[in-house]
Amino acid sequence: MSTIEQIAAQLQGYDPQAMTADGVQDFLARLVTPVRDVLELPLFEALGRVLAADVISPFDVPPHDNSAMDGYAFSGSQLAPDAALELRVIGTALAGKAWQGSVLPGQCVKIMTGAVMPAGLDTVVPQEFVQLNRSGDVERITIPVGLLRTGDNRRLRGEDLAQGKAALQKGELLTPARLGLAASLGLETVKTWRPLRVAYFSTGDEILSLGEAPREGAVYDSNRYTVFGLLSRLGCQVIDMGVVRDDPALLEAAFTDAAAQADAIITSGGVSVGEADYTKAMMKKLGDVAFWRIAMRPGRPMAVGRISSIKSAFSAYPASTGSYGKSSNEQGAMLFGLPGNPVAVMVTFLAFVRPALLRMMGAKPEPTLLLKAHSTEAIRKKPGRTEYQRGRVSTAPDGSLQVKTTGSQGSGVLRSMAEANGLIVLHHGQGNVAVGDEVDVMMFDGAM
Ligand code: AMP
Ligand code: MG
Repeated sequence: MSTIEQIAAQLQGYDPQAMTADGVQDFLARLVTPVRDVLELPLFEALGRVLAADVISPFDVPPHDNSAMDGYAFSGSQLAPDAALELRVIGTALAGKAWQGSVLPGQCVKIMTGAVMPAGLDTVVPQEFVQLNRSGDVERITIPVGLLRTGDNRRLRGEDLAQGKAALQKGELLTPARLGLAASLGLETVKTWRPLRVAYFSTGDEILSLGEAPREGAVYDSNRYTVFGLLSRLGCQVIDMGVVRDDPALLEAAFTDAAAQADAIITSGGVSVGEADYTKAMMKKLGDVAFWRIAMRPGRPMAVGRISSIKSAFSAYPASTGSYGKSSNEQGAMLFGLPGNPVAVMVTFLAFVRPALLRMMGAKPEPTLLLKAHSTEAIRKKPGRTEYQRGRVSTAPDGSLQVKTTGSQGSGVLRSMAEANGLIVLHHGQGNVAVGDEVDVMMFDGAM
């Protein structure tokens, strides 16, 4: 049994001709496997990579009890419920220069934010709350009654992170904050999963590469550019294989070359029903592939599976001479055969391919975060399919979020995609939306 068949057998009511958006996500989560190779990277090279191991804190953070304020450190046991506290200032503790020596009852130490708490002291009064009295060389402060409790304005050793505990977890994406956290632990490198290599090409005889002269009935290839951008934002290494003409030998060579070098292949076009081309036939021939009809808009047709890297005798694709580097992948590559329409490519990428690639990158799966916004207009929607409408979220005068569609929702209309900052997700069972109704929005955020 092929892998596709095995997964299909686990799923109740699997019907490739009637997939739901949720069903596609679930299927892909079962189909993909994460990369295994680990790269130890210097922090400056690790942004956007996925941790392959927990980052363990080698020490307590902060390493000492220290002051959270500029003020005066003293022993809180002297605070009385009914009287102000007068203390004599006997020295100063600076950040980076601890105050040495003992502090007796009735005494305090002037202290700066971040400075180590002098031995035996546990409380800091912020400087703006005290009354300062100076006579000759002697400085005294008065702390008003009822202002403080023992332990106030002191940060405890290890309160951010205890030594030996995981500061960051395997599967977390290295964001700027996480790089900073690793650096704060003195770590110069982190263990990451190697980046994914993703090859992509466009199919269709009517698709022109940039630089080609326009001709009747032909359109410039935009899918390679959107796919390139989406993959680059994910931190994937991209392999651009151009536009592949509708010719069996060229298609076979492109698929097998891609499968030999990449972890995943993304194609666009040629998967619709009644498509008079060789793309689907070649996917079927070279791989273990499911062809789906998804109850969604835009989108609908999609092919997924695994393409083998075994070449047949005649391979005419020029890249097989080595221009894309050495073959590195004997098990072949995951295939995401996306529809041809430019917006359908982006929507199916965001809804399905991106979460699947994140799993392949070793990232901990996280549910897609959806915001709630009030629709500023009525939207027609038929129950029984998931619709993704291009929208622009903004802040309403009352401070709540509102969303408006960005005009024509045709699946070839990239302009309305370019104007959008998110997708309004109208779920499978949902019907018409009235003005003011709350809808879910998937923000593009870091994805594009
Ligand atoms: P298909 O899925 O091949 O039937 O294509 C659907 C529509 O998308 C057709 O109008 C194609 O011309 C268009 N299309 C397919 N591939 C591309 C591409 N790479 N760039 C722009 N438009 C495309
Ligand atoms: Mg086509």
